[in-house]
Amino acid sequence: MKIDPQAFRVRPDEKIKLKHWPTRVKPFYSSKAQYEKILAAHIAELSRRQGKLYAHNRYSLLLIFQAMDAAGKDSAIRHVMSGVNPQGCQVYSFKQPSAEELAHDFLWRTTRCLPERGHIGIFNRSYYEEVLVVRVHPEILAGQALPKAALADPDFWANRYRSIVDQEQHLHRNGTRIVKFFLHVSKAEQRKRFLARLDDPDKNWKFSRSDLAERARWKDYQKAYEACLSATSTKAAPWFVVPADDKANARLIISQIVLAALDQLKLSYPQPDQAHRQELSAIRAQLAQ
Ligand code: ATP
Ligand code: MG
Repeated sequence: MKIDPQAFRVRPDEKIKLKHWPTRVKPFYSSKAQYEKILAAHIAELSRRQGKLYAHNRYSLLLIFQAMDAAGKDSAIRHVMSGVNPQGCQVYSFKQPSAEELAHDFLWRTTRCLPERGHIGIFNRSYYEEVLVVRVHPEILAGQALPKAALADPDFWANRYRSIVDQEQHLHRNGTRIVKFFLHVSKAEQRKRFLARLDDPDKNWKFSRSDLAERARWKDYQKAYEACLSATSTKAAPWFVVPADDKANARLIISQIVLAALDQLKLSYPQPDQAHRQELSAIRAQLAQ
């Protein structure tokens, strides 16, 4: 069965309710072996297209991953990007901001990490935290030393969305293609994964008490995600809501969406012009002596 990226895309100006978006869909594989085969094919193709992106050197690709805890961001990134040349790909994880980062506007820290031309950049969490965790915990704003007038503005959050959308449009105009994934996991599945982290000593390190506190704010997070995805999914930088209760299926969907994004770029290897061709044949003649 073919995976259609459009089935998971949030259309511009669509007001979404996450309860209408599934956390589980009919799998695109019928066995573990078949899953592995499809993923391997996606990874091989991704590697080929990354090679072209790099050689073409006009575009970059930014993949943004956002999700509730234990939705599988890390493992999706690990699997999907396993075939790409590390020289052309950088992954950044964004946690609580440092004092230096807090001393700047909220787009500063991520802007420094944007992928250069020809590269793929991956943001594991991103500037979107500024309208997600910060919206759920507005007390965080007290540490951001913002002007009083900005804080008092009733359009504070709308302004943040606008800053984000404007920045993404700007990047798009300048050759950065942005694809954003929300890994949509159910509360019951998160519970199962938390318990697995507690049961397995090798996974204990992944669990912290704060994960439970954030889980308690589940509804508030879903609301913050709904508002954010509705306000910031644009043609230039679409959001995809990926059903994430089945990790394997989520990886197939994500890799297909990344492939489609690269396909749209009509990438090609730079072709030598007449002068360069002549130079190359002269070099060949010299080497042949
Ligand atoms: P894991 O899946 O391993 O738990 P993680 O991405 O949740 O990975 P953690 O170290 O557990 O990593 O958590 C990072 C925390 O930092 C998250 O709770 C996130 O909401 C928070 N964070 C990220 N960016 C910001 C920000 N700009 N302001 C405040 N908190 C932020
Ligand atoms: Mg965490």
